[in-house]
Amino acid sequence: MKIKAINGFKDILPDEVANWQRIENTARDIFRRFGMQEIRLPILEKTELFARSIGEATDIVEKEMYTFVDKGITMRPEATASLLRAYIEHGLHVKQPVQRLFTIGPMFRHERPQKGRQRQFHQIDTEIIGAPEPQIDAELMALGQMFLHELGLSVSLEVNSLGCPECRPDFRNRLVAYLDERQDGLCEDCKRRTRTNPLRVLDCKKRNCKQLVQDAPSILEHLCSACDTHFTAVQQQLDSLGVTYRLNKFMVRGLDYYTRTTFEFITTDLGAQAAVAAGGRYDGLIEQLGGPRNMPGIGFAMGMERLALLMEQQESHPTIAQADIYIAALGTEAISFSAPLVHQLRIQGKQAAMDYSNRSLKAQMKQAGRLNARFTLIIGDQELSEQEGVLRNMDNKEQAPFPLQEPVEILARQLEKQMAI
Ligand code: ATP
Ligand code: MG
Repeated sequence: MKIKAINGFKDILPDEVANWQRIENTARDIFRRFGMQEIRLPILEKTELFARSIGEATDIVEKEMYTFVDKGITMRPEATASLLRAYIEHGLHVKQPVQRLFTIGPMFRHERPQKGRQRQFHQIDTEIIGAPEPQIDAELMALGQMFLHELGLSVSLEVNSLGCPECRPDFRNRLVAYLDERQDGLCEDCKRRTRTNPLRVLDCKKRNCKQLVQDAPSILEHLCSACDTHFTAVQQQLDSLGVTYRLNKFMVRGLDYYTRTTFEFITTDLGAQAAVAAGGRYDGLIEQLGGPRNMPGIGFAMGMERLALLMEQQESHPTIAQADIYIAALGTEAISFSAPLVHQLRIQGKQAAMDYSNRSLKAQMKQAGRLNARFTLIIGDQELSEQEGVLRNMDNKEQAPFPLQEPVEILARQLEKQMAI
């Protein structure tokens, strides 16, 4: 019996890794431009951390967490809670009042696996802690847009405000009153949500529910004046940075901690899995987790599986050369001669490859092709005794003799020079 990976957990194979590396490299480059520092966090945390931050009545905490019940620990379903836990634990605000952080890694949620939805998935998460200004919200969205643009992806941005503890309860009451009158038309989940988490009804994906909430009260018309001023300023700043977006009053997000601005980058290219990245402001959360009082924060997370799928779909295929030079060694003496030369080229920082199987020239040229090698140096026992190999440029197919009489250090330098031309 073959042992297979468990449902919802996936290998990322070498052919796919090229896209993943491009996603990570691009993210790191963009984060550098925005002054974001990396933080690396553990995968296991106390269960209470997620219950207290994400919220007891959310899908994640209610049914999606991988928890070791007897140990009271959980595999993180998202990164924000852990990042804030670390921020508070190490008093990062003391050193630097505004922290700009990012982290990359796997998250775990027990949900139904499908395209773009797994049980282990990966996020690039970024947070700015300590700054309440609306310009910060706009800056983060601009970062997201710049990143997606740099990857060549076309994705659209939707923005909403969820208000704050001042204005949300009133809105919530109005919404519950509206939903109470329409219970018969709602799905079972939404009937329950009307009591536990009524805002979630607004983004139910079921057709009936969607239709029913079309005329529900809009949060944007019930913001208190501070939230309204903040949200107007966010939009002005997005405009002045040239970030295109659309308001979506139905977007509520699945985590309880959000206040004011929330946003999602969405696509129509991944079926039901529309959100590529999502996040928002969480001004009360740090205090709620035992951190400094009145410490604001905002962040968002991008789903790497969905980014990689989109890159495939929107045809963005980087080919990665696995060799600057391949040495085709024919015969045992040629193999003994070539191995130190390959090693020297690697010391010099070149991608050099060979194999020791003594296969035919044809087989080895094929291998050089598979590796996308730019050059091939052919050395047979005869070439060795005549001290002259053949250097082939794989792009233009030109061949030239390459003298072999010097020590490998010098040969490697000469090869490097040839390859630079
Ligand atoms: P969805 O509505 O698709 O369930 P979400 O609101 O649960 O997403 P967040 O918790 O905000 O998602 O996570 C941010 C991003 O992480 C999502 O936009 C998505 O790209 C990605 N993501 C979330 N859950 C999964 C999953 N199970 N598999 C793959 N990617 C995921
Ligand atoms: Mg989800």
